[in-house]
Amino acid sequence: MTQCPECEANISVQGLMVGEIIYCPDCNVELEVLSVEQPAVALAPKVEEDWGE
Ligand SMILES: [Zn+2]
Repeated sequence: MTQCPECEANISVQGLMVGEIIYCPDCNVELEVLSVEQPAVALAPKVEEDWGE
């Protein structure tokens, strides 16, 4: 388990691969898996997808 850098929700990276992009179940931010053996995630690089929402 590690924590979301945005909202500190518990994030499990079990079964994931380094570099994988996941979403925080709490705040839905994009997170990149940095490490699995010593669970660590970081905010994924923001890709601006402005589709005129
Ligand atoms: Zn979060």
